[in-house]
Amino acid sequence: MAGIRLEKVRKVYPDGTVALHGLDLAIADGELLVVVGPSGCGKTTLLRVIAGLETPTSGKVYIGSRDVTDLSPQQRDLAMVFQTYALYPHKTVRQNLEFGLRVRGIAANVIAERVQQVVATLDLADVLDRRPWQLSGGQRQRVALGRAIARQPQAFLLDEPLSNLDARLRVRTRTELVRIHRHLGATMVFVTHDQEEAMTLGDRVAVLNDGQLQQVATPMEVYHRPANTFVAGFIGSPGMNLFPCSLERTGSKAELVTPGFRIGATGLSLAKAPCTLGIRPEELRLAQRDQAELTGRVEVVQPLGSFVIVHVIVGDEATPCRATL
Ligand code: ATP
Repeated sequence: MAGIRLEKVRKVYPDGTVALHGLDLAIADGELLVVVGPSGCGKTTLLRVIAGLETPTSGKVYIGSRDVTDLSPQQRDLAMVFQTYALYPHKTVRQNLEFGLRVRGIAANVIAERVQQVVATLDLADVLDRRPWQLSGGQRQRVALGRAIARQPQAFLLDEPLSNLDARLRVRTRTELVRIHRHLGATMVFVTHDQEEAMTLGDRVAVLNDGQLQQVATPMEVYHRPANTFVAGFIGSPGMNLFPCSLERTGSKAELVTPGFRIGATGLSLAKAPCTLGIRPEELRLAQRDQAELTGRVEVVQPLGSFVIVHVIVGDEATPCRATL
């Protein structure tokens, strides 16, 4: 097992697209780091650079203390599970799981044991004799994941490996993955655009936008102490309410003034204006009109069982602010 370190990694594609802008990132030995960000932010490129499938335009990649920047993917001993899982089409599921181990010359009894373990973990017993074309997308994804796990590599690179699973299986496989990670103690880099997946899986979460790291921290830290408004708006569902505002002082009274409403800001010591007011939907509460700090008109109500999302137009109808609670 080994940690992974990127040093000022920049990737410019031949057409001039800058996918990564000089990234510095250290993933500790045995850590599960989730890289999360919107579509096109550079997640897959980052993983491919670590894997050796893309050469960085500049910068270095280290696995453990070894500079692997110029090494081929095979020389890096990493297991990759990508969105498009390449299974051997003419081999059965069992043969797909065994193949990587056989070519490495691992003893038959060890292969049998490892395969049995991943089959049980990923619920593949019923499909062992089928070929990939006889499987659903989710089953294929689990076989690809199982094949990587059975190899027990230095580190795992996972690019949206759960995207084809239905909601229930996805939640279950996430939990399994956390368990497998603990059990193997392996370094894992997991890429997803799904912030909920990132929060539930990662020891730490790296939020990427436009090829630049926005924040690398524990899930709780990115939620409670987002480094900037991008992270604040991206992490959490529904997203944080963000309003442009300024601070106004009249005598001892201070107020945050947004285009649609004003709100008391006692105790705030903001040096600079204008600023952004961020309120998480889950921090807003319904109150009796005479006790409410804010009033609004309900636009849409979305019941989700354990909670209800309410979309509200807050404050002045002439300059409406949309908020979610
Ligand atoms: P998604 O979540 O949609 O898979 P991503 O975050 O993984 O996106 P990348 O696939 O890393 O993003 O792409 C980062 C940027 O680089 C995007 O603007 C993409 O269009 C661009 N890009 C990716 N591959 C190439 C390529 N081979 N040539 C030119 N540009 C590319």
